[in-house]
Amino acid sequence: MSAPTCLFCKIVAGTIPATLVAESDHSVAFRDIDPQAPSHVLVIPRRHVQNVGELAEHPARLADLFRLAARVADEEGLDRGYRLVANTGSEGGQVVFHAHVHVLGGRRMGWPPG
Ligand code: 5GP
Ligand code: ZN
Repeated sequence: MSAPTCLFCKIVAGTIPATLVAESDHSVAFRDIDPQAPSHVLVIPRRHVQNVGELAEHPARLADLFRLAARVADEEGLDRGYRLVANTGSEGGQVVFHAHVHVLGGRRMGWPPG
């Protein structure tokens, strides 16, 4: 297989370092490089798809990702609540076009989001 060009595919492959916090069959969780909350973890599918809409075409992988996100929140001690965010498309704030869900917690979240 050729070397991946996608940033998050490189993290999955281990060619770019990341602080991994949890792993499952289909998903990997690692700390965001620019945390926006005391806990800020990204959960991504191992296999490249552009966004969570595309991931929904693969229900087992989608469910695995959300299970891992819930496990991360539990392990981070976010028992008072947390926020899952899936920025989708450029106007949705997506910068990295490999599907991911942000797990944010450890502070009170504002609403509406910016
Ligand atoms: P998006 O805006 O696409 O939803 O989120 C992309 C996230 O990836 C951002 O929160 C950004 O801080 C994070 N990020 C970008 N580059 C890296 C990196 O090299 N390592 C890690 N751990 N996170 C990154
Ligand atoms: Zn990728």
